[in-house]
Amino acid sequence: MKLYLDVGVTRIQEYIGRTAGADEGQLRRRRGASRMVTNATDAGNFAVLGWQPNDETYTAEGVAHLVRPMAAPTQAECGIGLVEQVLIRLREALPHAYLEASWARAETYAEALNRLESARRLLGTPSLNMPDGRGALAWLPPVREDPYASRCGSCGLAAAESAVTDRKSQPQCDDCILRDSQGRPAGARGPVGADRQTPEEQTLAAVSELVDAPLRPVRDLNQLGRLPRRAVEKKNHIATIYADGNNVGALFEGLSPAQATRVSKALDASIKHAGRFALAQIHPSCDPAYLPGVVTTLAADDVLITVPASCGWAFAIHLVDAFNEEMASAMSREMRDSDLGAAPTLTAGVVFSHYKHPIEDAINAAETVMRSAKKATNGAAAAIGWADLTQTGTSEHSPSRPLQWFAGNRGLIDHVAGLAASQRQKWMRDISTAIQEHVPDETITGFLSDEARRLGLRAPGLEQLPLDDVIALLQIVRWWTPPSPGVGVSSPASHDRLEVS
Ligand SMILES: [Zn+2]
Repeated sequence: MKLYLDVGVTRIQEYIGRTAGADEGQLRRRRGASRMVTNATDAGNFAVLGWQPNDETYTAEGVAHLVRPMAAPTQAECGIGLVEQVLIRLREALPHAYLEASWARAETYAEALNRLESARRLLGTPSLNMPDGRGALAWLPPVREDPYASRCGSCGLAAAESAVTDRKSQPQCDDCILRDSQGRPAGARGPVGADRQTPEEQTLAAVSELVDAPLRPVRDLNQLGRLPRRAVEKKNHIATIYADGNNVGALFEGLSPAQATRVSKALDASIKHAGRFALAQIHPSCDPAYLPGVVTTLAADDVLITVPASCGWAFAIHLVDAFNEEMASAMSREMRDSDLGAAPTLTAGVVFSHYKHPIEDAINAAETVMRSAKKATNGAAAAIGWADLTQTGTSEHSPSRPLQWFAGNRGLIDHVAGLAASQRQKWMRDISTAIQEHVPDETITGFLSDEARRLGLRAPGLEQLPLDDVIALLQIVRWWTPPSPGVGVSSPASHDRLEVS
């Protein structure tokens, strides 16, 4: 019998994004928070407390999967006391994070999963400790008890430590003091014990290798927006991409411990490959000295990366396409002996915003459009959802389309992207006026096709497109720079069904 423990940071993006202004200091603190989470949740940290890394599942950012053997389940060995020791370590490293733990006794992790899940569901109070060895524990960040204590000038959430101020002489809380020091480059940070590379540092090294040049990270989001080389592009804008695997949880429920270990590794390798490949693909259109993205998360089935706005579509399409390809072939290679059904695919949300727009807002919006894109396909196919925070009142609610739609309409998107911006805006206005006046859809699309012909625009198939798709097309082309040819059209069959020989 073993004791399985899942422990880590909940609301991780909110925690990392808490210090989220556009200036250099805030990006440094975001990077620092990312490093703190990576280091604190390293499963290897807890060996001294008797826990081993649990490799029967996939490693998600901000969660440590742990396991320990149990001889006989004596009172002392049951749950909560052992778990508290782990949480105290995490709290020391992450002063103001939301922490959560759930644990269960079982022979395998697959068997433990339902019990862990039910413990989390039953957790109404701060802790739950059941006689059958299940339990869950939530630890909220400390509240600001003294209402007159000065507030942290960086995150604005916690009480400031009185003596320590940042460069603008604002008092900071103990969490932000740690973020600030952990966000500095390695040389300036001073020696750290077991320092793991952050997702961004790993990506920087790997993409440098792919493009065969030593890349540097950008200083802030303003610089990120300015990386594209083409003079005509608007350079104050960025795209935030949030992506997540489809039906990954359900897949793992059906796996043996040995299969789960293999699939978990394949998942992590696929997402890293896809993120690095997509960054390398947009690198040629940007200042060659820099990594063309700010990487917050790139592990297991989770991605949170910000890129220059004009690279947003190319990055998202390359990311989703490369993950699907890689995962399908990894699974058919690894799982030759068993039928596991469909290989997991990726769904992404893309959000365009001004670099000064609060990044936490863009991150939340990217997660929202990603979730509604998943809902639209029921998680059955790779899809991309989007929102444009620079436009108001023009979009349908959380639009999304399957990846295959982008492949099928690729020529049309490229052609419409060639239209002058003023012409596209006029079409948008024409459409919304016509909708308000209850003009039938076919009449509107017929009018637009005539207009396209009049303007000499080669847009074959425009007249057959449903009006919703025409609107989607006009939204998409606003930030469209084509990905490399052929992307998203390669071997669609392999995405739909895993072939098992
Ligand atoms: Zn703070």
